[in-house]
Amino acid sequence: MNITAVKAYGTKAAEAPLNLLNINRRKPTPHDVAIDILYCGVCHSDLHTARNEWHGTIYPCVPGHEIVGRVVSVGDHVSKFKVGDLVGVGCMVDSCRECEYCKEGLEQYCEPGMTGTYNSPDKHLNMQTFGGYSESIVVDENFVLRIPENLDLAATAPLLCAGITTYSPLRHWNVGPGKKVGVVGIGGLGHMAIKLAKAMGAQVVAFTTSESKFAEARRLGADEVVLSKDAEQMAAYRGKLHFILDAVSAEHDINAYLSLLRVDGSLALVGAPEQPLPVVAFSLIPGRKSFSGSMIGGIAETQEMLDFCGKHNITADIEMIGIQQINEAYERLLKGDVKYRFVIDMASLKK
Ligand code: NAP
Ligand code: ZN
Ligand code: ZN
Repeated sequence: MNITAVKAYGTKAAEAPLNLLNINRRKPTPHDVAIDILYCGVCHSDLHTARNEWHGTIYPCVPGHEIVGRVVSVGDHVSKFKVGDLVGVGCMVDSCRECEYCKEGLEQYCEPGMTGTYNSPDKHLNMQTFGGYSESIVVDENFVLRIPENLDLAATAPLLCAGITTYSPLRHWNVGPGKKVGVVGIGGLGHMAIKLAKAMGAQVVAFTTSESKFAEARRLGADEVVLSKDAEQMAAYRGKLHFILDAVSAEHDINAYLSLLRVDGSLALVGAPEQPLPVVAFSLIPGRKSFSGSMIGGIAETQEMLDFCGKHNITADIEMIGIQQINEAYERLLKGDVKYRFVIDMASLKK
């Protein structure tokens, strides 16, 4: 048999809680790295997918794409990693590797489609891929990342999705010195965006609906903080921002933020609410504004982000949980009640 049974946490239906499951992992091929998972971050995309909010979940579903672990074996042709290395796996585990986007290092936009770490057709086994809420994972070495040695391991896990998803658009839209940047929604992604934009040298304005985050967003690196429910505070920023990164997971008024952009400013969505976000034409026309989106980042850029975080000593602010608390953690995530990322200590799965 070319499979190994491993313990995982997942769900068999949109309405069902996550529970202990047994899943199959392939035995490593010559190009694979087998990883014992130490920590896995909890992304809001895990919740959207587990509950079928994006319509397309294949059950059973084992979420988790902010994976940090230790290499326990490598295939004969693996050259980048050895047993004992500390490594990361993010949102992708494969792509076609041949299309123009893969060749440019934009595997996330692979034409036939990248293979997601979970909920994608598995290229090796006749099933869907299963994510990081599990004991171990087997991944092609080209989709495995090196973890900087100076960073706390558990707090590094969220960089694999929240870190790269915010780093990539901040780079793409040339965020840096002389730019005033808004970050909307101070959750897992948003708090990383504040830290990264600040380290890139930008002036950062945080927009939050949570009074409790208002007080401490400056600690994360924001130069200014706006309570977005307060129309007067919002009005003070009309036409002032070069770029806005919107990381909100639920319905909200996008037009209110487009009005804060300068001429030629851009708002990029990384948040992916279930429902459409209506845009008024006149939010964009006067001011030649752009409304766009961005999805994670390529593998080379993910390594660049990890190295940047190593150099600037940037990790996520985390609350560690055991896997048994995952359903409760999802409920708290829905309330914006996490500062700022849950990370599962995977040793809890062995209990
Ligand atoms: P999260 O930790 O739950 O953060 C979302 C934040 O949005 C909350 O902390 C809250 O911030 C704000 N928010 C929530 N409900 C709101 C509402 N009704 N109105 C206004 N603000 C609200 O989620 P996350 O893990 O950072 O993910 C954020 C979104 O990005 C999710 O939709 C996720 O699926 C998506 N995502 C996209 C990509 C990509 O590649 N594009 C990658 C990863 C995740 P405040 O308390 O500060 O208001
Ligand atoms: Zn994610
Ligand atoms: Zn491709």
